[in-house]
Amino acid sequence: MTRCLNCGSERGADICDACGLSSTGAELSLRKRLLNRTAIFVLGALAFIAASVRYPPLELDGVFIFIGVLFFATLGVAIWVERRALRHTEVEAMKRIYYGLVPIPWLLAVLLVLNGALDHGKPEVERERVVGKFAMAGALPIRRLVVTSWREDHRLEHISISRSDFDSYHSGDIVDIKVQGGLVGIPWISGISSP
Ligand SMILES: [Zn+2]
Repeated sequence: MTRCLNCGSERGADICDACGLSSTGAELSLRKRLLNRTAIFVLGALAFIAASVRYPPLELDGVFIFIGVLFFATLGVAIWVERRALRHTEVEAMKRIYYGLVPIPWLLAVLLVLNGALDHGKPEVERERVVGKFAMAGALPIRRLVVTSWREDHRLEHISISRSDFDSYHSGDIVDIKVQGGLVGIPWISGISSP
């Protein structure tokens, strides 16, 4: 049994009874849709990164590793579906998995924005010492301040900071870090200042 790559219904002949496309037409239609959804997915990943810069979660590096794994796994599924479509083999199950993965970065971006933008709680101010900093240039520059941790089970914290803050803090400085609880319980950093 083969299924139409376009509409997913069973087909006996080259022309699909349900949508009227030939197997070649159905393949083109599927690949076009894959491309569109991939664009939506990539934009979602960028929206997520923008949200995590604006409302940086305390566990930012863990969040980035998670989104990185999700990103490459999802693109891997997309490539797999496309290669199977080229050979006109069964793609229905994997296609549904792929379509299910596409909105996830958008949902996570919305979650981070809600967590930060609607968090009207008073921040906890933690006074800590800067022990280092590092920056990586690139399309998505990364700047982190390494400070001693206020959490019992952590030695250091890596705080995402703006370029101007990056230039003005140095090892040994004492800083006040504003930590918010987050509307949905994801702790995030709302600011850094000198005491
Ligand atoms: Zn069809």
